[in-house]
Amino acid sequence: MDILAHGLYSVVLCSKMRTTAANGVTGPQLDRKSALAAIAFGLLPDILSMGPAFVRHMLIADGGHFFVAYGGSDLVLYRLTHSLIVSLAFSGVILLVGRAFFLPSLAWPLHVVCDMFTHSASKFRTTVFYPLFSWGFNGLRWWEHPEVIAVYWVIVGFLWLARMGLARHSFSRD
Ligand SMILES: [Zn+2]
Repeated sequence: MDILAHGLYSVVLCSKMRTTAANGVTGPQLDRKSALAAIAFGLLPDILSMGPAFVRHMLIADGGHFFVAYGGSDLVLYRLTHSLIVSLAFSGVILLVGRAFFLPSLAWPLHVVCDMFTHSASKFRTTVFYPLFSWGFNGLRWWEHPEVIAVYWVIVGFLWLARMGLARHSFSRD
């Protein structure tokens, strides 16, 4: 899944809503702190695994293709950051030490699930059970299928409308 969509899914599904009136606005609204935390956790797997390698690639500028050259310890990091075992363990720790950020931290395993269906079982497969297994689901590569991008963008739009509708409903009942 593209990084912008990861950020949106993180906000829509893993951030808290405020159901009190604030700043002169009456009605449900996003809790900014949890939305920013959700974005950070949701982008973490790609930034952590590809960020340093990308900076190195830009500095060395050998003319090669970044995704072709990507491998070695960077790929191990990619597998670790795209593992449900690692990400859920991390959320478990957050639950114990910083409960307020538990929901936003779930944006990390959500990222893994989204990538699982939008990557194929090739080099950039999503190894959900790593480091126990290197297996990856054979999904559709989003970068080769514009229709996949269209579908997940439409879905996140509906999810946002549903979330706002539910929040308004519970707000009007309070
Ligand atoms: Zn990813």
